[in-house]
Amino acid sequence: MMGAIRVVIAGGHPAGAVFSLAAGRYCERAVLARSDTIIVTMAFPIHRKRRLRVSESMRRFVRETHLEPSQFLLPLFICPGEGVRREIGSMPGNCQLSIDELVKECETVRSLGIGGVMLFGIPDHKDELASGAYAADGIVQRAVRAVKRAVPGLLVITDVCNCEYTSHGHCGKIVDGDVDNDATLAWLAESALSHACAGADIVAPSDMMDGRVAAIRKCLDEHGFHKVPIFSYAAKFASVFYGPFREAAESAPQFGDRRSYQMDPANAREAMHEMELDLEEGADMLMVKPAMPYLDLIRQAKDRFPVPIGAYQVSGEFSMIMAAARNGWLDLDRAMMESLTSIRRAGADIILTYFAKDAARALA
Ligand SMILES: [Zn+2]
Repeated sequence: MMGAIRVVIAGGHPAGAVFSLAAGRYCERAVLARSDTIIVTMAFPIHRKRRLRVSESMRRFVRETHLEPSQFLLPLFICPGEGVRREIGSMPGNCQLSIDELVKECETVRSLGIGGVMLFGIPDHKDELASGAYAADGIVQRAVRAVKRAVPGLLVITDVCNCEYTSHGHCGKIVDGDVDNDATLAWLAESALSHACAGADIVAPSDMMDGRVAAIRKCLDEHGFHKVPIFSYAAKFASVFYGPFREAAESAPQFGDRRSYQMDPANAREAMHEMELDLEEGADMLMVKPAMPYLDLIRQAKDRFPVPIGAYQVSGEFSMIMAAARNGWLDLDRAMMESLTSIRRAGADIILTYFAKDAARALA
């Protein structure tokens, strides 16, 4: 029995029950009988875990993890035009919205007590320089002004990136066939500043350029926006689960992929380092994206960093649940609530989710 010890359960367990486990696990509460044997003198029938599961009121009473609508952020996609509410095929119930429709949507969001909205823009034209990203009258900038005017009190957070605005679909300026990190920082700082000028409550850079948080902080502070927080997409992975979003935001890269700036899904310690660096640069809040395939990192971040931790339940996570539910393979409401609960239990203070409205209604 190399590396293992024998455990004998005493005190009412079915006679003769013996199993092995890694050494040391029960040592505190056990009596050492022989060098390779531990007799456990507790547990069943003194402890019956089912006692606290007998009824819904009992289960609710001892529940460890709670969901509140105020912990949700609803991502929304803004497109040009008027009266536009175009459903995204792969994300049932989610739409590209013109600004007037966005305002109506935000009124609903506020009435449900949802924490806020995360805005993504779809400009009417894209170019090499992502000029729509930082234009004072760009689609997001106009949307922020309209929502802040019509729905005061609703927290408006803006995604700061370039991929929806570049003709090539990458998140930064292309130099010699690659995204140039340092040249992109100026675009990001300009975009964040233009969002703050329009009235955004929080700016959220999602590009994964090195040094962007410091560049944005410096630019905001120089222009008197020292009170505007930065919610950094700090650990953002090059994930297949973004697929439906690219249809929603019309932001698929026209060549190559994003693996030279988004993170390798295999790397956990690197994710912690990314977060640490963003905190040093001045991030106020940190995000892990996607959420469910990265629950371990949400937990590590929560234990390690003394700032609010957000997790983005991305489009693919949403679409998988919706597709399974539409096929009759899963109960939609239960899958929605269990997925959100697991993200919260892992340690997320804030959850970006396309289920925000439905989950808020379910909690009401
Ligand atoms: Zn991007």
